[in-house]
Amino acid sequence: MAPDLDPSTVVVHAGRPERVPNAPVGGSPVFSSTYVAGGDRGYGRFGNDSWSALEETLGALEGGRGLAFASGMAAVAAIVDLVPVGGRVIAPQHAYSGVLALLDQQADAGRLIVDRVNVADTEAVIHAVDGADMLWIESPTNPAMEVADIPALSAAGRAAAAIVVVDNTFATPLLQQPISLGADIVMHSATKFIAGHSDVILGAVVTADEELWNAVELRRRSLGAIPGPMEAWLALRGLRTLALRLERAQSNAAFLAQRLLEHPKVSRVRYPGLAGDPGHKRAEAQMSGFGAILSIELGGDAAAAQRVCESTELWVHATSLGGVESMLERRRRWPIEVPTIPDDLIRLAVGIEHPADLWADLEQALTNGT
Ligand code: PLP
Repeated sequence: MAPDLDPSTVVVHAGRPERVPNAPVGGSPVFSSTYVAGGDRGYGRFGNDSWSALEETLGALEGGRGLAFASGMAAVAAIVDLVPVGGRVIAPQHAYSGVLALLDQQADAGRLIVDRVNVADTEAVIHAVDGADMLWIESPTNPAMEVADIPALSAAGRAAAAIVVVDNTFATPLLQQPISLGADIVMHSATKFIAGHSDVILGAVVTADEELWNAVELRRRSLGAIPGPMEAWLALRGLRTLALRLERAQSNAAFLAQRLLEHPKVSRVRYPGLAGDPGHKRAEAQMSGFGAILSIELGGDAAAAQRVCESTELWVHATSLGGVESMLERRRRWPIEVPTIPDDLIRLAVGIEHPADLWADLEQALTNGT
């Protein structure tokens, strides 16, 4: 593909079959557990054309080479496995709870040492990363919406010879490209915005470092954390419209953030797109948009927050994000959510519906639930 194409064009055209007469315009899922001998593919756990098309597209967007996984957590587990036994990982204080739980399990088993820092506090991370084997960054963080200074943290991580990983799930490959900001590995829960329709569980890794790519690929084949061909194909089909979906979801999020800021029942709105948000300037510098997730708090009233989530008619009360349908949930309803996430924090994953309909439903839920 031409090197100067806009990412919104790349997302449509990368990873397609060669344009020769009679070729299909897009690939199909390839259902095969093995391949005829004589080529380099070998066996269905080592490669699949449906994965390759998705990997090529994600690689083109992120500036590296992709690897598809059975889930975001399968990708996380393969990356964490790169850390030697007894090694030290610097992880965010707030991040996706499943990632933090996995790190805790590994620490409890004596396999790793995990030190948690506030990733928005650049000095604290720079101090902590000295002597570490891996620096795990998530930005914006789930669900606190903190923004890490990815270029500064990546430079510090690399100087300390730590592998720098960025969970780019919230930002998507269209709004933030961590490899170009200095990271070694990018990881996605492709379940979210990439697949985009709440019908697939899938993960992805992208790196521009061949040695790291080989090491992660080896773990995928040996741990067996491979995606199904249908899931990979569905994710790529969803990814084709990411630019359009994001445009609408993001403008909806910005509209709702402003409305929520003015609502008397809402005590705090966390959205990097708001001029007064602590992460606004950083997000502006390293992202090409502020994304479609925001969090709100209701003055400490967790019961009211729970009722609000149960009072919506249009918004789906469910966990997850990045689908075309708007979703909300009180994050602390999950026992594994980090205790420093406020009990009354509601995460809003904004979809592509009409903004007036989304606001009307949210407003009635805020009225009826509080
Ligand atoms: N990273 C982030 C930021 C997430 O939000 C999630 C899931 O919610 C994951 C990783 C894990 O991905 P998956 O659910 O696809 O395993």
